[in-house]
Amino acid sequence: MTDTPQIVIKAGKEKNLLRHHPWVFSGAIEGTAPSEACTCSVVTYEQRFIAWGAYDPESHIQLRLLSWKQESFPDDEWWRETVRSSIIRRRRFFEDKASQTTAFRIIHGEADMLPGIAADVYGKIVRIILSARIAWDKRPIVVSAIEELLHPQMIILNTDSSFCAIEHLHEVTEYYRQGQRFTPSERLDDIMIRESGLYYGLTPGSGQKSGFYCDQRENRIRLEQYVRDAEVLDGCCYTGGFTLHALRAGAKHVQAVDSSSDAVHRLLSNVNLNVELGTLGPDARERVDAEKADIFEYLRTMPRNKYDVIVLDPPKLAQTIKALENAKKAYKDLNRTAMEKIKDGGILVTCSCSGSLSREDFRTVLAWSAKDAGVEVQVLETLGQAQDHPVRLSFPESEYLKVFILRVIK
Ligand code: SAH
Repeated sequence: MTDTPQIVIKAGKEKNLLRHHPWVFSGAIEGTAPSEACTCSVVTYEQRFIAWGAYDPESHIQLRLLSWKQESFPDDEWWRETVRSSIIRRRRFFEDKASQTTAFRIIHGEADMLPGIAADVYGKIVRIILSARIAWDKRPIVVSAIEELLHPQMIILNTDSSFCAIEHLHEVTEYYRQGQRFTPSERLDDIMIRESGLYYGLTPGSGQKSGFYCDQRENRIRLEQYVRDAEVLDGCCYTGGFTLHALRAGAKHVQAVDSSSDAVHRLLSNVNLNVELGTLGPDARERVDAEKADIFEYLRTMPRNKYDVIVLDPPKLAQTIKALENAKKAYKDLNRTAMEKIKDGGILVTCSCSGSLSREDFRTVLAWSAKDAGVEVQVLETLGQAQDHPVRLSFPESEYLKVFILRVIK
């Protein structure tokens, strides 16, 4: 380690790093940085050790801090152990059969001290999504550590297309069986996962994000409190996470809306699946309709006072900090229209998964919506991402999902 390159942080720029924030941008680096990607020691201007880091001049985050313990240098064994620890922290999910949940996250990137790596378990399959060059370089270790610990039927690994350009990565999908790469000869069979007792079908390796949004698991359960005998609108329904829960909890009717026709078809087949397997009563089919539509347009044109409960779970409207101002307007319009149209006393479950929009800012946007809609709004529940998507205190960016359950009073 004596010949490990050293990176000096500019005086005044070290505070957040000493508090274990893991990202360093080029402007914080003093003097000339190494010309090639390397593991380096990162020190203050006064030469005090801060952390070991991964430096990469081609990454949009040039330096990512890995280990703040001087005695634990991030060699291959460190990466293996950090992957193992992240999985072992989720032991409860593997052991708790009563929760009837077979889909959950085992690695949540920087929040699990593993930059650019997300990994989810879907039954017997593991899906890995990489969004940083360092993660790509370390993928053989990540794959073998997961293989050794979990022995999944298959590991599907891909680069996150939204980061490929800024990280100079190719859009790649790799398949592994028993730790060895292989090329599937045909389309992979659909698999079935279970969440809180409900069944969902999915096609391995396809679909948005990693194929199913486990981060809303607990919020779907919360929804069940509010929907008995209610007319429910599930806006941006995807494959029916909230819809199935509303049906199970006795909603009179659920109207599901999504701009993707694949999502709408999958939602209806998920309803059928649950009816066939007995987790939903046979009447569930008659209590649901699913429609391909733009949610902004749908809310604008739908009649007033039709819905008792509206769920709004749009995709990331603010992809970047730059896009934030426009995204705030979109969140405001979406929520304002829902508040105007919902019944008096209605329940609005509203979500934002844009990491660049803070919880406080989202609340402020909702207050603007309420003002413009001319309604009073009570916050009944303040919710976030499920516990397998932890928020790391030193890394506020890891808190991305904000969910409010609101009562709208006219
Ligand atoms: N609530 C879902 C996840 C929603 S993800 C669940 O519990 O699983 C966001 C969804 O919004 C995606 O399915 C996407 O297809 C859909 N979407 C994106 N833009 C939309 C729009 N303008 N109108 C309606 N749906 C949209």
